[in-house]
Amino acid sequence: MLSVGTPAEIRADVVIAADGTEAQFARRAGLDTTVPLREMMSCAQYLITDIDIDAGSTDFYLGNEVAPEGYLWVFPKGERTANVGIGISGRKSRDGTRAKDYLDRFVAKNFPDGKTIECIAGGVPVCRPLPCTVGDGLMVVGDAARVVDPLTGGGIGNAMFTGRLAARVASECISAGNCSKEALMPYDAGWRASRMGKFLERNYKVKEYFVTLDDRKLNTLADSIANISLKEFSVSALIKELIKRNPKMLFELKSLKDALS
Ligand SMILES: Cc1cc2nc3c(=O)[nH]c(=O)nc-3n(C[C@H](O)[C@H](O)[C@H](O)COP(=O)(O)OP(=O)(O)OC[C@H]3O[C@@H](n4cnc5c(N)ncnc54)[C@H](O)[C@@H]3O)c2cc1C
Repeated sequence: MLSVGTPAEIRADVVIAADGTEAQFARRAGLDTTVPLREMMSCAQYLITDIDIDAGSTDFYLGNEVAPEGYLWVFPKGERTANVGIGISGRKSRDGTRAKDYLDRFVAKNFPDGKTIECIAGGVPVCRPLPCTVGDGLMVVGDAARVVDPLTGGGIGNAMFTGRLAARVASECISAGNCSKEALMPYDAGWRASRMGKFLERNYKVKEYFVTLDDRKLNTLADSIANISLKEFSVSALIKELIKRNPKMLFELKSLKDALS
């Protein structure tokens, strides 16, 4: 048995790098896993209890005063308990304006009597996925592969999806006795062609559009959908509704896409 801190050599036909945001394994294997500072969301979250919330709704707060180039969330975890968290762009993080500073101010104002029972912090990459997520004997999944939804910062589902697909392809390649980059490529091609892969690309463009908006424009967009009643809430349904009510947005998105490409 290995004890912590004891170096050991372990050999495997395939390594699935699932080491999260830091992506050290893929980096050491030669992949460029750099995330631009502006696309590394600095996040902090408290689990707060004994607070007055609407347990049936999730609240998002946008705006440069509240969460520059990111958002603040209140996700209910029960009748009087919620995850209250924030993500701000790494480039906006300074002494006095760190994610935790914004969060503390919000909590002091909105939940002064709440009890914080857990605190987590971390970085969430909202850049485009790695250009290639396989190498000889290597597959990269989850945050390490940068497959977080760039718009919402949600990465749990995508990490599970890519992890499962990688395991399937790895198992086939091990059985076939070929774990070369080429043989492992169906994993990379598979997630890119999937619904998740398509959403990542679309949501990246929408995110790049949103970070250009000032608070006035954000308020206008939010007001435009204030009274909508969606049969089923999803990011896709929300984007469709936003575009329907603000057709100019489609044009602005397109010109942004042209400017970025
Ligand atoms: C504050 C905050 C709130 C979030 N909220 C949500 C949310 O509500 N919904 C959502 O979908 N996503 C959320 N996310 C994002 C989500 O946490 C990640 O996208 C998701 O956990 C990625 O899963 P992963 O398995 O790729 O990486 P991780 O969950 O980061 O797991 C990587 C694991 O590898 C381990 N590891 C790293 N290096 C080594 C090493 N050298 N040796 C051994 N082990 C190693 C780490 O300790 C860790 O356990 C949030 C993130 C943060 C920071």
